[in-house]
Amino acid sequence: MSSTNTTGAPSRVEDVHRPRAGITAMIPCYNEIACIERAYREIQCELVAYDDVELLFIDDGSTDGTLDAIKGFAAEDPLVKYISFARNFGLEAAFSAGFKYASKPWTVQFDADLQSPPQEMHRLVDKALEGYDVVFAVRENRQDPWYRRLGTRGHQTIARRWLGIELPQGASVFRIVRTSVARKVVDSRLSTPYFIATAPLLGARYTTLLTSHRPRVGGRGKWNMRKLVSHAVELFVGFSFRPLAWMSALAAAVVAAGAAILSLALAGRFGPTELAAASLVTALVTLILLTVVARYLVRMMRVQAIGVPHYQIREANIPVRADEALYGYETPYVIAEVWEGVR
Ligand code: UDP
Ligand code: MG
Repeated sequence: MSSTNTTGAPSRVEDVHRPRAGITAMIPCYNEIACIERAYREIQCELVAYDDVELLFIDDGSTDGTLDAIKGFAAEDPLVKYISFARNFGLEAAFSAGFKYASKPWTVQFDADLQSPPQEMHRLVDKALEGYDVVFAVRENRQDPWYRRLGTRGHQTIARRWLGIELPQGASVFRIVRTSVARKVVDSRLSTPYFIATAPLLGARYTTLLTSHRPRVGGRGKWNMRKLVSHAVELFVGFSFRPLAWMSALAAAVVAAGAAILSLALAGRFGPTELAAASLVTALVTLILLTVVARYLVRMMRVQAIGVPHYQIREANIPVRADEALYGYETPYVIAEVWEGVR
């Protein structure tokens, strides 16, 4: 399956920026000691097909020895770069850092658990070479629990059909992205780094590609119900104002119903029980309304917090921005532009 965005596939391949060979393999990982060695070997094996490559591990505050394993790879392999966060900041923060510090023109994002087989990267690369900025893998026979599959389908459908948000249906985080465009996406002044919705919003040329999927090769998934719900809500309020319009309509309906009930009560046709029931319904609707408004307030606060990094780096074997490094301001009064420390 393959679909294109509203701007359509470029008509002539030579019209678009042809990708160079350089590829950063980016691997965000959080407590992946059960898979990390195998992930490194399998990804490294596929990268042999390209001339100019690097492996960029983003350790998202692991506490199980994942970072030590990565340092072991780096000690033997100069192509291995890593950044390690001061704590767990979440997958979005991890891939945002990955896109910012990737040094090659194309970045392929992998999962450390190898659910999307690295061998599929070549098909993503070939597709990107046809003239796209982003190619998202869509998992064929997705090997995740039913509630995950249903959750993704449900919230993406609500986003697309009801809220008018443009996004590639079924897109996973296994993807190839033109690195310059990826940086633009993660740098955009939005409240949330929701990649699959931001890339279309900025006008990136994107498409999807069906790729195989398998169960984790080890360890456990990191998503729970709370994270899944908050991720969906971030998409809804981050990219659409329709929920606010619905709330206004709901408020208008409640006011009209309230007026009718009040007139009936004054005319003696409604007793105290009916009035109490009507008050309860009004209170519940008000609560729902407040919750939705609160989500938008949170969104506004996040936008105002632009400039506050979404993560802090404790260790790295590449230079990183001083303001993104926990120990980046070691020099008094002089704020170094780049922090080169490896701890
Ligand atoms: N991950 C991360 N930070 C987190 C959670 C996950 O960097 O807080 C990484 C994880 O190590 C893996 C990728 O994101 O490489 C996908 O995570 P997971 O397999 O749990 O997600 P799923 O496949 O269930 O969607
Ligand atoms: Mg997984």
